[in-house]
Amino acid sequence: MDTILQIKDLNVSYGSVAALKGLSFDVKAGEIVVLIGANGAGKTTTLRTISGLVKPKKGEVIFEGKRIDHMEAHKIVYLGISHAPEGRRIFGTLTVHENLILGAYTRKEVDKSTLEWIYNLFPRLKERSKQLAGTLSGGEQQMLAVGRALMSKPRLLLLDEPSLGLSPTLTKIIFDTVKQIRNNGVTILMVEQNAKAALKFANRGYVLEVGKIVLSGTADELSSSPKIVEAYLGKK
Ligand code: ATP
Repeated sequence: MDTILQIKDLNVSYGSVAALKGLSFDVKAGEIVVLIGANGAGKTTTLRTISGLVKPKKGEVIFEGKRIDHMEAHKIVYLGISHAPEGRRIFGTLTVHENLILGAYTRKEVDKSTLEWIYNLFPRLKERSKQLAGTLSGGEQQMLAVGRALMSKPRLLLLDEPSLGLSPTLTKIIFDTVKQIRNNGVTILMVEQNAKAALKFANRGYVLEVGKIVLSGTADELSSSPKIVEAYLGKK
């Protein structure tokens, strides 16, 4: 499998606070990879650095063989990386449809087949296309955030805590849809606090602790690692 994303020795600081301290990992094309870690471990910072919202002090981000860590965020979207941020950040006073159209801002015109694909992935959004996004339920807003990120037709999709605040049933719907998105040729890198659910459907995972990878493996390996079970999965 080809490597689609390579992170090499990434160091990121906010003022005097070091958030990433020599982070290195990779993602292969066609994988679903999950980043697991405690609050403050640097998971969101990792995604924000890949999408160009935060600039590293040191290190490299390489996408499809090209160095992108110095590039502006909108150019990175154009190259093929899209980010559905934590907290959804949808436009509450616009309709579902308008929010989706805005996701295509890097494309000159809205691609009808992409819109149809997204409405097929999330029939709930289709039903509610004229509803104001601010009145959607938490799960529906999450669907919209993912749908909007897909409008730029990414080859790599970054998802920050897609299951945050969702019931187990909705979490399963979101994760099943993420799998379908991957099956449509989009590679997925996601951050999840819900390690148990994420490791059930991801291919591989990395564990972050204070800005560094401390453990990595296939989802099966991580699910059965005593350290992971104790720290993130809870005793059964
Ligand atoms: P969580 O699971 O709680 O969302 P996380 O693993 O995503 O955590 P980050 O949000 O990447 O962690 O934060 C890593 C560290 O950087 C934390 O110590 C955090 O307080 C700090 N940090 C993040 N954003 C900023 C900022 N804008 N200014 C200052 N410090 C920040």
